[in-house]
Amino acid sequence: MPASTPPSGPPQDDHMMDDLVFAPEVATVAASARPPWRILIVDDDADVHSTTTFALGNVNMQGRPLAFLHAYSAAEAFALLRRESDVAVILLDVVMERADAGLQLVRRIRDELGLHDVRIILRTGQPGYAPEMEAIRGYDINDYRTKSELTRTRLYTAVAAAIRSYEQICALEANRIGMERIVAACAQLMALHGVRDVAYGILAQAGGLVGQAADGVLCTRETGSHVGTSGGADGYGRLCVVAACGASRDLDGCQLDGQYDDRHVTRLALAAEKTLAQRACSADDGMLALYFPGKAGRDFAACIPLGRTISDVEHRLLKVFCGMVAVCLDNCELVTDLNKSAFHDPLTGLPNRTRMVELIDARLVKAADNGAVLALVDLDHFAETNDALGHRFGDLLLAAVGQRLCTRLAPGLDIGRIGSDIFCVLGDAELVQPAQLQTLFRDSFHIDGQDVQVSSTLGLVRLLEHDGSGADALKDADIALKRAKLQQRTGHFYFSRSMGVEIRERVRMMHALRSGFRRGELFLHYQPQIDLATNRAFGAEALLRWQHGDGHLVPPDRFIPIAEYSGLIVEIGEWVLRQACAELMRLRAAGHVAFTMSVNVSQVQLRHPHFLDMLRRALDDTGAPPAFIELEITESMAMEEPAVLVETLEHVKRTGVSIAIDDFGTGFSSLSHLQRLQVDRLKIDRTFVTEITGSARGSSIAQMVVQLGRNLGLSVIAEGVEDERQAQILRQLGCPLAQGFLYARPLSPKALLAWLADETVTRAA
Ligand code: C2E
Ligand code: CA
Ligand code: CA
Repeated sequence: MPASTPPSGPPQDDHMMDDLVFAPEVATVAASARPPWRILIVDDDADVHSTTTFALGNVNMQGRPLAFLHAYSAAEAFALLRRESDVAVILLDVVMERADAGLQLVRRIRDELGLHDVRIILRTGQPGYAPEMEAIRGYDINDYRTKSELTRTRLYTAVAAAIRSYEQICALEANRIGMERIVAACAQLMALHGVRDVAYGILAQAGGLVGQAADGVLCTRETGSHVGTSGGADGYGRLCVVAACGASRDLDGCQLDGQYDDRHVTRLALAAEKTLAQRACSADDGMLALYFPGKAGRDFAACIPLGRTISDVEHRLLKVFCGMVAVCLDNCELVTDLNKSAFHDPLTGLPNRTRMVELIDARLVKAADNGAVLALVDLDHFAETNDALGHRFGDLLLAAVGQRLCTRLAPGLDIGRIGSDIFCVLGDAELVQPAQLQTLFRDSFHIDGQDVQVSSTLGLVRLLEHDGSGADALKDADIALKRAKLQQRTGHFYFSRSMGVEIRERVRMMHALRSGFRRGELFLHYQPQIDLATNRAFGAEALLRWQHGDGHLVPPDRFIPIAEYSGLIVEIGEWVLRQACAELMRLRAAGHVAFTMSVNVSQVQLRHPHFLDMLRRALDDTGAPPAFIELEITESMAMEEPAVLVETLEHVKRTGVSIAIDDFGTGFSSLSHLQRLQVDRLKIDRTFVTEITGSARGSSIAQMVVQLGRNLGLSVIAEGVEDERQAQILRQLGCPLAQGFLYARPLSPKALLAWLADETVTRAA
């Protein structure tokens, strides 16, 4: 143990502290540099002064010489102690001005001057004046001797013991003060957020611990492309200054790249490099260098120019400080990381949805900002690009789009990424305009050596027209975006208030429908279809009904679009098909063996990958003969994605089921297209049947459809026939089949059977 090491070091040398061991040379400090122990001799006898200094004059204690102060009365000693500090031992005469002057002085030293560290040895010429044991204990007196007892050796031993205990007391006291300072320093550091703030705090607090103003730099190695190799001297990651104060403050934020003109900078950089490489603290060449191990190899070094050597106590304190700072840094990096991942999209570094909601909320609060517009920018066909070219390519593309938004749009806008391929731009109305945003995509993106052309669709919300939270604004923008995609013309759509009401109503209905379906609130009615030649029913169309829990009937025109929109139609449609097939079987069982059943099928159903399986299983399970089942698809459906539809319908036809085109005449079917679809029947839309008796145009369309059917060899049925005149005209036009209120409304299964029976009776009669 070196001479300067105090007897008991703090017992906290755990693993963390091992990292913080000071380089050994630091602890070795030349004895000559150490200040002497100051000994105060208080005695009214001048001879005692000279014999004492003579006896102890040339000795070294704990590696330090002694220096003497002299007082010849208690009063003088008191005045001297009031001025002087760091007196280690007082050799004090008991009897001076008064018999108890010495003891009184001890009391004043301890109580009035508050000097508790200084060791006191009482000396008396007269044994009879020995103080009470109580006093010795009460005033913390180290030793009590008669002058005759104190031979040179004894005096030496007594003073040496007193000095040792003084040193220990000082060390403890310094530790205590230091710990207090560290606790305070760390409490302050903990209150700071972000690595930079904490970095400044560290420089200030470390300076405070060694008794100087904040000065120096805090450095780390940038984790760049070489992440994973913890910053060492092998040059991985450039050395950068996280914080700089005092004379070094110009270095703030700089990179120390190894080329320095300035001697001061060179010293700091070398010290930082060495500290990070050796992973240890040091204090040599007038530079205090502290090492803080960080997470994932991101270590920090604080380099603080120091004009003096530091004491052992300071070493130990700095060690503790380093340990605590490492925890602080870990925490604050954690906080920063958490902040980053909570509010930022890792791919583009842009604010994420959560952050955007905050930003919108902030704008909504400021009335002046309500002129702002929120735009969602959705990349068209991104999923396909991602699938075709791989996710890495997709990621690069997203990053490039993010970058372009940031660099080409006006400054002052908030730009974020809120979904996989949806970006978000928030700002003043004149800066966030559809045309401007779409122009950004005119130039192709250069990704991985390839030029990619990307287009976008926009959904916009004027915050002025929005009431609700930031999250609601994003939802509204999303609704506008969906609308923009649906209409596909301008590529953008502004949200309007009425849309919001409509949507909320729809969402409510969707939930009600879902639970209504589970609870069995749905059922089918069947509307007979008539052969105009015989006026007899040959089949029926199955029509879905929903009697809401509260008893009222919800029109299919209202709930079916919602079922389609939500995808619920897939499940419901299968149920409808099975119900209709089962009903057909019951009708057959009741003797209506040539009866056909038409079932409406939505586009969403038809597009579903398992549609054909579903159809085959429904037929199998119910035993319904396919030849008596017809699927109705609308003309608008027949127009979309012809190639896919042709193939699906081919498969449908192969099951033996036939196909009708519903609402015919409302769409724009091309003849060639119709032929390729292999349909069996056209249904003249009700509007043309209604018009048939009024305008010439009405009858001409009905006539055209009938002719078309004849030419293509397709069956034709007119729907919505309400009166006898319409039926008459249709017959004249050559339309073979009809359906409508004239014959029957949609009927419950029981009513249908009754109606059919009645029809038979009527015919028979
Ligand atoms: P749609 O397929 O065109 O069905 C014919 C609609 O015309 C039915 O309305 C029927 O009640 C009504 N109708 C029949 N004859 C007359 C008449 O003489 N005058 C008048 N004014 N109307 C008549 P509904 O039942 O309200 O159905 C409306 C639409 O809902 C249907 O139009 C169809 O597109 C859809 N729909 C009904 N059931 C289903 C289903 O099970 N699945 C699917 N996907 N859609 C269905
Ligand atoms: Ca229909
Ligand atoms: Ca129809």
